[in-house]
Amino acid sequence: MDGYIHSTESFGTVDGPGVRFVIFMQGCPMRCKYCHNPDTWAPNTGEVRSANSLIDEYMRNAAYYSKGGITVTGGEPLMQIDFLLELFSLAKEKGIHTCIDTSGVTYHPGESVYNEKLEKLIGLTDLIMLDIKHMDRDAHKNLTAQDNSGILAFAKYLSEKNVPVWIRHVVVPDITDDEAQLSKLGEFIASLKNVKALDVLPYHVMGKSKYEKLGIPYRLEDTPPATQEEARKAREIILSAFRKARTVSQA
Ligand code: SF4
Repeated sequence: MDGYIHSTESFGTVDGPGVRFVIFMQGCPMRCKYCHNPDTWAPNTGEVRSANSLIDEYMRNAAYYSKGGITVTGGEPLMQIDFLLELFSLAKEKGIHTCIDTSGVTYHPGESVYNEKLEKLIGLTDLIMLDIKHMDRDAHKNLTAQDNSGILAFAKYLSEKNVPVWIRHVVVPDITDDEAQLSKLGEFIASLKNVKALDVLPYHVMGKSKYEKLGIPYRLEDTPPATQEEARKAREIILSAFRKARTVSQA
């Protein structure tokens, strides 16, 4: 089966454990104001690649990935769930560690056909990296053009299925760094039983030139990048609320 692929990276070190073969999938329904990959938004474009050809490419460098594996990211990889099912089935036949980096936006609790496929896919997935962009519904919609209810439901679904998850949150000054919202995120993570790590990343402007090339207005023109120190402080607020919520629930 073929998938629409934006690009691949042979030696990824930030998209899951170890050195990884990273596949950037084409297509995303979110429109995050801080997205640094707007060139992945359009679906059904990019390079057409078969699942087999990607596994073959991985196998040619397999020795480098002994502590890593394959990560699919994007764009939103779960938009091409049929392709992922084939790719990860082939990967598992070869004993490859598999990871999906997702916003969770494609999940809707009532969609039985999609969710049946999702259930099969998570059976082939070792790790999910889930971006939670904002806890407030309206602020989330303003930031990403999408509601967060399905995303939070997806996080709970993964918890019920006990799929290992790393949570990611991007700190954007004056948009996603509000203390009350960060605390809410910590409390939400505390309610999940499958979270193995928390990555809090500072917003950067490295994707800005892509917007100019694509002729898309850059909507954070007046927002400065976040510093490592701001990201560290935000992480501390999230973790403090997490610990407090866990202490209360265990009392
Ligand atoms: S979900 Fe990811 S790829 Fe999609 S718009 Fe947001 S940051 Fe960009």
